[in-house]
Amino acid sequence: MKLNEIKLTNPYLTLPEECYTRVKPTPLENVFLIHANEEVAKLLDIDIEELYSDAFVSFVNGAWELKGSDPFAMCYAGHQFGHFVPRLGDGRAINIGTIKHWHLQLKGAGQTRYSRSGDGRAVLRSSIREYLMSEAMHGLGIESTRALALIGSEHKVFREAWETGAIVLRVSPSWIRFGTFEYFAHKKRYDELEALADYAIAESYPHLADAPNKYLQFFKEVVARTARLMAEWQAVGFNHGVMNTDNMSIAGLTIDYGPYAFLDDYDFQYICNHTDQGGRYSFGNQPNIGEWNLQALMHALSPMVQIFKLEKALAHYAELYTNRYLELMGQKLGLDILSDEDLEFIKQLLGMMQGMQIDYTLFFRTLSRYDGERTALLKLGLYHKPMNEWLDRYDERLKGNTSTTEERHDAMLQTNPKYVLKNYMLQEAITAAEKGDFNVVDALFEIAKDPYAEHEAHERWAGATPDEFKNQKLSCSS
Ligand code: AMP
Ligand code: MG
Repeated sequence: MKLNEIKLTNPYLTLPEECYTRVKPTPLENVFLIHANEEVAKLLDIDIEELYSDAFVSFVNGAWELKGSDPFAMCYAGHQFGHFVPRLGDGRAINIGTIKHWHLQLKGAGQTRYSRSGDGRAVLRSSIREYLMSEAMHGLGIESTRALALIGSEHKVFREAWETGAIVLRVSPSWIRFGTFEYFAHKKRYDELEALADYAIAESYPHLADAPNKYLQFFKEVVARTARLMAEWQAVGFNHGVMNTDNMSIAGLTIDYGPYAFLDDYDFQYICNHTDQGGRYSFGNQPNIGEWNLQALMHALSPMVQIFKLEKALAHYAELYTNRYLELMGQKLGLDILSDEDLEFIKQLLGMMQGMQIDYTLFFRTLSRYDGERTALLKLGLYHKPMNEWLDRYDERLKGNTSTTEERHDAMLQTNPKYVLKNYMLQEAITAAEKGDFNVVDALFEIAKDPYAEHEAHERWAGATPDEFKNQKLSCSS
């Protein structure tokens, strides 16, 4: 479809008025397209040529509204670093309407009622990170919000220094957060709470619409999706960095990309977020925090369901998490059938990696071609003895496989990515972009889309992270 043929809908606006505030975007000055996502355009049924028109840039800038648009910001609360904040909300994201169940949102399009002291803007560097990473997550097969386009501008935005503003047009099947429920529970607005639950069920769990005990069933499924998402992050080596309950999706999606990181060398205790001194959101603590956040959601839902029933549902979290994690790690190791001892076997592997400065992604990619010849693997770490001991066990374990070595290699190469977007790579894209060169953004987008392919032109990004860039921390300021 042409942009001017599209008619947006606004299902969220059927909720009580306390759930949102209408607000018009404030466009940026002198904007230009940096990248458009043709795959997402297809999902939205937008003609590809439209993406490269001036009108499209104007649309992403919030300067031109499509038919049916009725922009608004959503309110929510949340536990930030364990402390309850009763009113947050879309401080710099403006929802502009829905196409085919995808809700479109402009991040960085100006202030809203929920901006507090913020300027409602997003700077170029953080917008590049969000744009590329949401596509990379999707490429890795992990549920995520996505993005249709990224635009830059000459609009000055002050953080620690003057930078320029950008906008990402994000799309998601749901923008509801755990914190959205906490907002109404805290205010004791139980009618709105119920309306929100019904809406979230219709949006993300439609099969539950007429189920008996639907709110309890809903919570059970949120528990399951969250457990699954945490297992996926752990298996791929992703550290989100800001797992506040306002950054937790009710639909189990990865949402709100801030100071995230992929592991360089494996480190269970790695903390990507510079402000997280205690390591609450460290890599290894993510599954626990997933559960802590579900507990906060459970309390928010307790006016609608007896708490002991919710508690019983939450009690399954650890098992759901572990089963999924085991399944994923079994795939990463190319094991056809899992056994009871495999969790311990995986722990031995990770324990070995922890002390040996081994690049997490490169290790599994190299293992994907293992045929008994160990040189390539032994070269990856500091010491040979623990690696040899683990490989002896792995050799034994592989004897239980029914697939051939070749089949195992093929499957593992489709499971263990060759590329993940490490922070040093993103920084390279940002440094070039800040000088007006978007070639690295384009290149990273290509590998993000298909991280299992060889991409021979980008081989240098498939190696271990250069020492000077390893395991750095990022600031939240974005
Ligand atoms: P985050 O940590 O990015 O998820 O943001 C936490 C809260 O702060 C959310 O309610 C955001 O909308 C809000 N926020 C972050 N940055 C800004 C900004 N520059 N202007 C207005 N609100 C912001
Ligand atoms: Mg957020």
